[in-house]
Amino acid sequence: LGTNTLPALLRDAAERFGDHPAYVEGDRIVSYAELLRLVEATSEVYVNSGACCGDRIVLWGPNSIDWAVAALAVSYAGGVLVPVNSRYVGAEVADVVERTDAALVVVHDGFLGRDQVRELRDAGVDDQVITPMAGLMSAARTCDGLRHEEVTPDDVADILFTSGTTGRSKGAMSAHRQTIGAARAWAELGGVRQDDRYLVINPFFHSFGYKVGIVVGLVTGATLYPVATFDLDETMRLIEDARITVLPGAPTIYQSLLTAPGRAERDLSSLRLAVTGAAVVPVVLIERMRAPGPDGLAIDQVVTAFGMTEAVVATMCREGDSAETVATTCGRAIPGMEIAIAEPRSDSGAGELLIRGDYVMLGYLDDAAATAEAIDSDGWLHTGDIGVLDDDGNLTITDRLKDMYISGGFNVYPAEIEQVLARMEGVADVAVIGVPDERMGEVGKAYVVAAPGHTVEPDQVVAFAKERLANFKVPRQVAVVDSLPRNLSGKVLKTELRGG
Ligand code: ATP
Ligand code: MG
Repeated sequence: LGTNTLPALLRDAAERFGDHPAYVEGDRIVSYAELLRLVEATSEVYVNSGACCGDRIVLWGPNSIDWAVAALAVSYAGGVLVPVNSRYVGAEVADVVERTDAALVVVHDGFLGRDQVRELRDAGVDDQVITPMAGLMSAARTCDGLRHEEVTPDDVADILFTSGTTGRSKGAMSAHRQTIGAARAWAELGGVRQDDRYLVINPFFHSFGYKVGIVVGLVTGATLYPVATFDLDETMRLIEDARITVLPGAPTIYQSLLTAPGRAERDLSSLRLAVTGAAVVPVVLIERMRAPGPDGLAIDQVVTAFGMTEAVVATMCREGDSAETVATTCGRAIPGMEIAIAEPRSDSGAGELLIRGDYVMLGYLDDAAATAEAIDSDGWLHTGDIGVLDDDGNLTITDRLKDMYISGGFNVYPAEIEQVLARMEGVADVAVIGVPDERMGEVGKAYVVAAPGHTVEPDQVVAFAKERLANFKVPRQVAVVDSLPRNLSGKVLKTELRGG
């Protein structure tokens, strides 16, 4: 079976990396050898609490060492990991518990005193099922029920929920070999090694934080620094003190690092790899992230990637790609994955992005119909995103099938307009939605955030768009705002813009 199960991978990591730090959180350091011991003890608690092989275990909490231990222990006990959004309220967690028929809900200790847990109980979750996260290790007794050897590469390892951008979140199920395979491919492309120090701001409950965070650690022996809540000063201090080398994140994180007031006093030169995506990335941002000197961050490798819960990661830029390519595309298919465009339009070449390969999920939880709709009989996952490929096979996401509005009979894709407006001088951030209009049916409304030290006038935005876009694409309304509502992975919450 090799190391294609998480328990085997963890044992292997403990042997290979031994005393090397796996996690650092404040003063607490956990080595790879110690990680295995903590995971063994925690998995015993699960087994003693009655969790059986194949049982789902829900994890609810912000990034922490305890979270990583609790998650790996689920696999070690032969269970299925179900992480939930740390910002969920009790009722939302209860919904996931019910949908997954979870045997246990492991709750971050900081949440235990909050109303959230009462809500969890009120929503019908049995008290006995609720398990405190940090209490796990001390509660361990001996038990002869260790299951790690029974786990096989094809067993379901995790059920991760999609962000719910286009509707109700769906639970995507992946096998051990898929979760590990995606982490290996990502680590290889990023050149991640044991001496890397990896800051994980991306939430552990999302595939970006779990599969290409926690699991990449096991694959490479890198040291992970979990961040529970993003704080700019704290992040800069940590990068300097810990000499952080790898920093994946939403584009806004680098944007704020570049414009941070106290940056000149901080030495951020240890950074060597940044991976971003999932939003509009201006070319100047990539250039400045790479640039040495006081205006830049001097990061050697700055790349973008395309990922989704159902397929972890499908494309990624390669070292040496130009800033233009990195900003305007999300790179080429990664080893193990194929991409294609369905029914490309004859003029633009745009069509729905299809993905096939080793890391495409097994299917959606308890929804054979949705699975059959998403993955066709040839194994292609229909992503719901609209993309184009350039001559080198680099993918550009031009929009989502569902994020489109119709203005005067023409289809308008907000992503295209956002990419244009992001290039305007003085514009730091932008999002476009369709709003009702008596004459046109719908027209575009742009929400614009001005860069520090700049002012942006709505008229200028309209004029800028007019010079570069067909008239039906020019936003008729512009709102200059302080910030855009975003989820934890940096995606603009357009439903909030539509509501407000
Ligand atoms: P739901 O499926 O529940 O509506 P979601 O699709 O936002 O939510 P995720 O799986 O977290 O949930 O996000 C995947 C989506 O993120 C992709 O389908 C795509 O729309 C977007 N995305 C990811 N990477 C990129 C990228 N590099 N450029 C543009 N969009 C991206
Ligand atoms: Mg989706």
